[in-house]
Amino acid sequence: MNSKRRKSSNKGKAPFRHKKSLGQNFLCDDAIIEAIVDSTEADDRTLVVEIGPGEGALTTKLVERAGRVAAIELDDRLIPILHTMFALHDNFRLIHEDILQVDLAALTEEEMREHGLEHLAVVGNLPYYITTPIIMHLLEAELPYRSITVMMQKEVGERLLAEPGTRLAGAITHAVHYHCEVSKVCDVPRTAFNPPPKVDSMVLRLNRREHPPIETADADFYFRCVKAGYALRRKTLPNALAAMEGVTREQIGRALEEANIDASRRAETLSMEEFARLADCLREE
Ligand code: SAM
Repeated sequence: MNSKRRKSSNKGKAPFRHKKSLGQNFLCDDAIIEAIVDSTEADDRTLVVEIGPGEGALTTKLVERAGRVAAIELDDRLIPILHTMFALHDNFRLIHEDILQVDLAALTEEEMREHGLEHLAVVGNLPYYITTPIIMHLLEAELPYRSITVMMQKEVGERLLAEPGTRLAGAITHAVHYHCEVSKVCDVPRTAFNPPPKVDSMVLRLNRREHPPIETADADFYFRCVKAGYALRRKTLPNALAAMEGVTREQIGRALEEANIDASRRAETLSMEEFARLADCLREE
């Protein structure tokens, strides 16, 4: 939004002071806004859950296109602004809460059932200080989404796009690839925001998989192993996994041998299949 328009819409009011602590960098590039909204593929049978609507840059387009929009915003000061902006849209619901505290499964189930909606899309220009917790919160809620379209810091986007078992991957890469197919929507320069952040950004689309790409006897145990492995990613697997509760070094040694994985390797070199094999062998110990 240019400063002239901002001035006239805020007539008589103090200008909005962006809070750095809440990751408030608002989008002001129409082409990027369009690309994000298009990526949701929202239609009148779709519920869109938006994380952090801010001053409504994405929301304005979403309410025109989706069956319903449930937007979750933490900042008290934005609540009256958003209520006023969307007062004439009866397909808009504002939830004034911390996204990490919202029971997303209950919210989406209720909204879809009450309004007869068939599809779910999640979207957000994320507050970067909690990108990873938000993505984990979304994945762990096991929602029936078709896609999650999220803006994040470029380096985090590259981590999520990386193949597990390659240098850029992290524990979150395993979680995301287990649940979703990941693709890049676009790169976003810092000039697309007001105020501009100190980093470049990237929009990713995560399409929910019907089935995970690997088989494992116990997905929770697989993720415990992945987390332990990456928590000490510079250490070899025996040293990193030894930090797991209830697991002995002898058991780790036998599991590595049975899974045919060299004990000198580090977690970051293991593919998802190898991690699954190792987790299954360790679980059997
Ligand atoms: N969607 C808007 C846009 O693209 O212009 C704003 C995006 S801004 C990067 C992130 C938004 O998330 C802000 O509105 C901020 O207040 C909100 N936010 C920050 N922490 C939050 C939290 N824990 N739960 C919900 N919203 C949060």
